[in-house]
Amino acid sequence: MYAAIGDTGLGSEGRPNAGFVVTRAGVVVIDALASPQQGQQLLSAIRRVTSEPVAWLVLTHHHPDHHFGAIVFRRLGAKIIAHPDRRVLASEAGEDALTADWVRVVGLDAMRGFAFADTPDRPVTGVDTLRLGGRMLVIRHPGAAHSAGDLMVWLPEDRILFAGDLLVEDGVTMIVDGSSGELLRALGAIDSLHPRVVVPGHGSIPSRTSDLVNRTRSYINGLRTEIRSALEHGLPMGRAMASLPPADQTRPVSFNSRRRRNAVRVYLEEERAYMGLDSAQ
Ligand SMILES: [Zn+2]
Repeated sequence: MYAAIGDTGLGSEGRPNAGFVVTRAGVVVIDALASPQQGQQLLSAIRRVTSEPVAWLVLTHHHPDHHFGAIVFRRLGAKIIAHPDRRVLASEAGEDALTADWVRVVGLDAMRGFAFADTPDRPVTGVDTLRLGGRMLVIRHPGAAHSAGDLMVWLPEDRILFAGDLLVEDGVTMIVDGSSGELLRALGAIDSLHPRVVVPGHGSIPSRTSDLVNRTRSYINGLRTEIRSALEHGLPMGRAMASLPPADQTRPVSFNSRRRRNAVRVYLEEERAYMGLDSAQ
């Protein structure tokens, strides 16, 4: 098993992580990075290790930074394993708008040869076990925690988990495309696996898995408690957000702006629950 760790210098704005598992019957790649150029770099890293063909590409979810390199692997004949729900907030204005926005993030050069390749050949909405060349990968939908199309990849023999963006080591897990309740349930599912190693969606591999899971859980629980109490005191959203540091104007996906977007999401969730609109909370 190999993990390709992205640049973490920029916090969650940096390049995401990916990984691959080499078997004697082909390679399984986990996430394809943020552009065809980055997908090609990942392929070069794989080629330094093995000349086995890439048989499968598993996508942990449908955010551009994790799948915009997928076309590189599809053109080589890899089959895609993903959750069929490709909806994310950023694509509400359509795929062309999403692509144009992303060109502004990674640059035109990096996007040369781009085409969408995140529609699954093998859709997973529950649990699926992939067996290839003597290796076993368990692919599981943990709920709509970070996004509707979340999957995590578990290597039971090695006790290694690819968590996608359920866990972010160098920032905060975003829930604007998912939900805080589903994320808490997903963290419980990660705990019950007792992983030896987790590869987060961004940032370094934590030396103690439970530290990152617990930190994520207390962040989400803390945010829920704070927002619920603001609602109980009748505070409108603006006042409830007043204790959060302001978003950095020049960095739209900075740590502070992510925390604020999560807080807005939790405010809306808690407001629904408070008003009795949502018994599932
Ligand atoms: Zn993501």
